[in-house]
Amino acid sequence: MLVIFWTVKKKEAIQRIETLRKELNSHNHNYYVLNNPVITDFEYDILMNELQQLEKMYPESYSADSPTQKVGSDLSSDGVQQGFAQCRHKYPMLSLSNTYDLQELYAFNERISKATEKSWTYNCELKFDGTAICLTYVNGSLERALTRGDGTVGDDVTQNVRQIASIPHRLKEGSGYPAEFEIRGEIFMPYVAFDKLNYQRELDEDPPFANPRNAAAGSLKLLDSKQISDRGLECTLYHLIAPERDFKTHTEALKEAASWGLPVSEFSKECNSIDEIAAYINEWDSRRKTLPFATDGIVIKVNQLDLQRSLGFTAKSPRWATAYKFKAEEALTKLLSIDYQVGRTGAITPVANLEPVQLSGTVVKRASLHNSEQMEALDIHLGDYVYVEKGGEIIPKITRVEFGKRLPEAVKAEFPKNCPDCGTPLVKDEDEAKSFCPNSDFCPMQQKGKFIHFISRKAMNINAGEATIEQLYSKGYIKELSDLYKLTSKELATLDKWKEKSISNFLNSLEESKQNPFHKVLFGLGIRYIGETTAKNLAGRFGNIDSLMQADREQLLATEEVGEKLADSIMGYFANPAHIKMIEELRSAGLIFSEEQDHKGSLSETLTGKTLVVSGVFSISREELKKYIESHGGKIGSSISKNTDYLVAGEKSGESKMQKAQKLGVQVISEDELYLLTENKPLLTLF
Ligand SMILES: [Zn+2]
Repeated sequence: MLVIFWTVKKKEAIQRIETLRKELNSHNHNYYVLNNPVITDFEYDILMNELQQLEKMYPESYSADSPTQKVGSDLSSDGVQQGFAQCRHKYPMLSLSNTYDLQELYAFNERISKATEKSWTYNCELKFDGTAICLTYVNGSLERALTRGDGTVGDDVTQNVRQIASIPHRLKEGSGYPAEFEIRGEIFMPYVAFDKLNYQRELDEDPPFANPRNAAAGSLKLLDSKQISDRGLECTLYHLIAPERDFKTHTEALKEAASWGLPVSEFSKECNSIDEIAAYINEWDSRRKTLPFATDGIVIKVNQLDLQRSLGFTAKSPRWATAYKFKAEEALTKLLSIDYQVGRTGAITPVANLEPVQLSGTVVKRASLHNSEQMEALDIHLGDYVYVEKGGEIIPKITRVEFGKRLPEAVKAEFPKNCPDCGTPLVKDEDEAKSFCPNSDFCPMQQKGKFIHFISRKAMNINAGEATIEQLYSKGYIKELSDLYKLTSKELATLDKWKEKSISNFLNSLEESKQNPFHKVLFGLGIRYIGETTAKNLAGRFGNIDSLMQADREQLLATEEVGEKLADSIMGYFANPAHIKMIEELRSAGLIFSEEQDHKGSLSETLTGKTLVVSGVFSISREELKKYIESHGGKIGSSISKNTDYLVAGEKSGESKMQKAQKLGVQVISEDELYLLTENKPLLTLF
């Protein structure tokens, strides 16, 4: 009996080990390569800890490939980003073991005391929340900068690192630096620079970075090194490897490095006992909130270098150092109300409205509640005081309720049974734990969402924004996607603030959208689960919409990236006669529904061969302005260079961009001048 129980348990454990390894590998990829984590560090560490425990219990599950045995890799060789040469580290670049538990520090101390007879001290320093870097100096010059990579091989980011002001290209002459040495540290982005960068990204309609660490890591891997100097990156160095110099302690080595002109943290402290370390941790757990940059813990190192050498390393980390991590910053605030947002596909997302509260340098007003199960698990009541935490996602989440502050009359937050927009009873998608409004053809939010998706840049790229769709929809001009192509100038003239120019721009853009290839049209239809790539795969395999409509399940499943869910969705979509009718109307309007018909548009390409950079705020959204430029054959540049033809400057256009344009002789034009330009009319302000 016991044997059977044991075998079942073991089987389960081995399966769990497999699952955890897969999950952690995917989180490593999100974190180190994409710079876009989807879970908090704390959640990650819990998974890692579970895997370590299980592997310890079942040593036969050992694998050198397990995430417990490897350093998370930031190497950009998997097609996400390319352009960096890879270089072998002279000494492996490991990561630190870490803990959230003071008790484990006592155990760490215990292990070291068993390994030595001599007395020793510790060096404690702030753990900067950035991205690791390894610098090599030869004869006082910065020779090379490598990322951690997979610990053995790193990306060569020397050109980029040279743009970071706090890293010297040359060390102080006569300061006594060794002929060749390595020094490691962290590149990080202070809050001020982070906020500025995200503000600019918002203006540019680029997705913002989730936190300063991702921003630093993402910036370091920019392919255009000229952009780096604007990013406000800083560096702090914490580990010197200089074999030819006989330093006794880590403290002494860093002090020397500072005297050569290298940036070394001013906050480190030598501690004689674990109690002193605990006091240092306590002090910084609150003091760190006043620092202008993010710290996520304290690094504790054995200070005596000979003892470090005799303690050595595990496969993944040094035995003479560990990190104590602070729990993510959280804030307590009042839950005012919950909005239930209806997405384009009908998914309902609960979003909490909070009393504004300061958290990690920003004011938080809204937080995600994910789904009904999450709300149930939190047992959330309206008016509750809740803890919010910033995880990997940009929108913070509610982690728990402060039950002690709940009022007796507080009412439990009920997930709606009906769509908040159209009143249709919701259905639950078991796989995704999400609730959906099934009324996809008449639910106003879903309908509007469909138009917004249809006109988006990756689909039909039509020169209009959400506000336009909102108006057209509420005036009853558009119900089906095909209604867009029936709009008249007379109807458009009734829209708020629309004049002749906006009307003709919009109508031209609709006309031009008819040149879009089949896969874009297919993507634009907004069939659930059809993303950009699947649309391309389906278009490639079936060639035209008629074959796709007639395809059976088996044929659909034989297409790359098409699974059961997607096959169901496609068949369901075409089973609806209203959809067939709408597609016929789009076809008669002149849209392309087969690959053969795909051809290059002959647009009014007055901007062909020109590169334009846009900056600031315009009468239309930046996205619309970019579409407008592209629809006239122009290219959008991300930064000003000597290859830029025009800087289109709107209100609040960045001063540095203007100066750069002037310096390089790039012509600065206004939005109105852009319109003149595309119509081949002379610019009034030409000089
Ligand atoms: Zn609805």
